[in-house]
Amino acid sequence: MKAARLQFKVITYHAIEFYFFAIHLLFNPGLLPPLTIVFMLFMPSMTNTPEFPEYRVVIDPGHGGVGKHPMSVHGDRYDTVSGRYLDYYKEGAARGRLHERVIVYNIAKKTEKLLKLLAPGGNRKRFFNILEKYSEDNPPQITVLPYMSRGRSITDSEAEGKKDPNAPFRMFDYPDCEGNMQQGRMSRINELRPHLVVSLHLARAGPSDFEGMSPVITPSYGFLRQGLEYLRGKRRGKRFFLRSPYREWFIEETSRSDFEWYLNDVSLYFTGYPLTRRREPDSGGFKGYRYNMVRWAYSDKTGWERAARHHIASSRYADSFEKYVPEGKFWDRERSSYERSRRDGGREGFGGDNAYASYEIIRYIYYSLYLRGDEHRSQKPGKSYISVWIMPLHVNAINAFIELGYLNRSRDRFLLTKRQDAIAEGIAVGIYSLLSGLTPKDRQFNHAPMGKGIDFTKYRTPEGRSYFDEVTCQ
Ligand SMILES: [Zn+2]
Repeated sequence: MKAARLQFKVITYHAIEFYFFAIHLLFNPGLLPPLTIVFMLFMPSMTNTPEFPEYRVVIDPGHGGVGKHPMSVHGDRYDTVSGRYLDYYKEGAARGRLHERVIVYNIAKKTEKLLKLLAPGGNRKRFFNILEKYSEDNPPQITVLPYMSRGRSITDSEAEGKKDPNAPFRMFDYPDCEGNMQQGRMSRINELRPHLVVSLHLARAGPSDFEGMSPVITPSYGFLRQGLEYLRGKRRGKRFFLRSPYREWFIEETSRSDFEWYLNDVSLYFTGYPLTRRREPDSGGFKGYRYNMVRWAYSDKTGWERAARHHIASSRYADSFEKYVPEGKFWDRERSSYERSRRDGGREGFGGDNAYASYEIIRYIYYSLYLRGDEHRSQKPGKSYISVWIMPLHVNAINAFIELGYLNRSRDRFLLTKRQDAIAEGIAVGIYSLLSGLTPKDRQFNHAPMGKGIDFTKYRTPEGRSYFDEVTCQ
């Protein structure tokens, strides 16, 4: 109440002030330009006063740049220890003239447009009219501040004339032409301190047992730690893996089993090294200390490279499993209850709020298609892709990460190119539901969303702040 009264006072104050400006202006028309500036300075304070619960949402269409050679110019994953890129820029899937980076961007832009209806100055009524198709609830007002993680994708011909065409699209921080480090996409996302990041991808082809749209998730520290214990010989048997909801691990190619890929990714997650077939850290394939390739509150102190270069034993830079100790800010974060909430258990029984948010948006996309008469047996939530993915590991926000379909499947191609509006509406309504809760109207629909909002109280710190705000140092 106090806050509301103060807000009223502030607005009244500005209104009176504006009245005096207007009177003054009648007699001094020459003052118009400077006064317009003064007025514009005051306007944000009138519109920014939070009227409703406010949520920052980043829509993150994957890729955007081009996968050109050489890696030394166009790469990603810049390692400040060796002063070079450790990977090629991943330009995403393509089939003929269809490009993942273009399709996901178009869908993201349409989603952003819908979410802007809930931003200050937006046409809220239009958004709530849309919600009426989905629910009989009387949904509460919220404010959504939507952001895009990148601009329009670069075309191959545009990239030709550019020195560093991937600069706006890299995931990790990178040096500009003068050697100054610039923020990559994840650092820029973290700077926005979002509550929710919605990453949109699609693939060229998929495994035959994956049908429909699928979440991309990373299990929490506890599950990955068991893999480290196994590699150290302190845990025998694979039962912990085979009995877990994460046993269908993401396989890069079929010459190794799920379990071997899991161990490979466990090794990458902790030490930065992939695994040789003899289950030792592969010194030739170093992938870097990823949490130090991002500007956020969990990077090691300036100068960390000195310790890393020597792979000091009993530290987080050790290069053997026996001598490896996950210590420091990032690893404390990994063990925190917030990360367990984001990545483990939860409404789906696994994958935490990240999996729930992904599935809920997928169910709302299918619901949106269903309301338009688009139904097909392949339109169902698919299995999750499980690995140690970059995005869910390097943001504090709830990360809904979705593979929207496969370009080699005709039904998916149809949806991804001809039903972008319906998909975007499903995503926007799904986002609303995750932030505020929205009971779906039609319970007959096979893949009805749960309609429960995320419990954000789990992300409140003992100091009364929010885990999402803590992602940067300010
Ligand atoms: Zn992708």
